Amino acid sequence: MNLTRFPRARFAHLPTPLEPAPRLGAALGIDLWVKRDDCTGLAGGGNKTRKLEFLLGEALEAGADTLITQGAVQSNHVRQTIAAAARFGLACEVILEDRTGNRAPDYVGSGNVLLNRLMGGGMRTVSADTDMNAAMAELADKLRAEGKRPYVIPGGGSNSTGALGYVDCALELAGQANNMGLKLDRMVTATGSAGTHAGLVAGFAVSGADLPVLGIGVRAPKEKQEANVFKLAVETAGRLGHADRVTREQVIADCDYVGAGYGLIDQGVVDALALAARTEGLLFDPVYTGKALKGLIALSKAGAFRGETVVFLHTGGAQGLSGYHGELEAALA
Ligand SMILES: *Cc1c(COP(=O)(O)O)cnc(C)c1O
Repeated sequence: MNLTRFPRARFAHLPTPLEPAPRLGAALGIDLWVKRDDCTGLAGGGNKTRKLEFLLGEALEAGADTLITQGAVQSNHVRQTIAAAARFGLACEVILEDRTGNRAPDYVGSGNVLLNRLMGGGMRTVSADTDMNAAMAELADKLRAEGKRPYVIPGGGSNSTGALGYVDCALELAGQANNMGLKLDRMVTATGSAGTHAGLVAGFAVSGADLPVLGIGVRAPKEKQEANVFKLAVETAGRLGHADRVTREQVIADCDYVGAGYGLIDQGVVDALALAARTEGLLFDPVYTGKALKGLIALSKAGAFRGETVVFLHTGGAQGLSGYHGELEAALA
């Protein structure tokens, strides 16, 4: 499969390591490996970096001078987008959505928000009922009227261009497993704006690696999440000339671990964060990987992965931990 026909800016630290997690795996009763996409290298890294390589490729080719994107207040995508803009000398204007209603000083000022300010991103916050795509289009119009050349990146970098980053990850992982003689049975990832999950499904389907992917949802209910992922996976495979290789059955999301809602943590999430930290020295995050690990723990204990070798995609996000200082301190006491 040839990804070189797509414009791409190269800044991610790749390949990311594929590591065994024997102590965490023993606690879960499964053979567990971790694909370390928290180590992609851009201002703390995370999964948005792979997507941004292809999105920046397009933006630079179009001669853009300003990136526009959106996300929740503690968005890791926003942090990585602002970092990518800095790296290429572009301006970056961000619309943050007050999705959680959390007004704690740490949530609105620490974690990712503090890093965004350090890197010079322009930020404004809007209420949770805002049409974020319309708000970005309006901002783009305003910048164009001022003579700027904006490039709009959707929330999470999740369109078929961004998802190419996870096609690339699928190819990279399959190659690593082959070289190590490691037989993987399943990949597990947090799934939110869908680009990561969709890119992986498309990559494994088009390349013929056929590794099943289980997405653990962090926001939408199962039906909606699977529909979003499927649509984007077909579109992404279509960019590669093989839309027909993605089937609806390949898209599986378990959305039973969202808890009270997106970005809202509970004791199960904190217990999962502590388990990963105390068994492997791995820092997971409160919004995505911690919730996915909460699901992985419950499913493993229920025997869902018996006899399997499972690879968990660490999509990053630990930079948001201090945004949850109060909740974490109370729950760790
Ligand atoms: C954005 C994000 C995800 C989810 O990826 P999507 O492509 O939006 O589904 C998972 N983990 C972390 C840490 C993220 O920042």
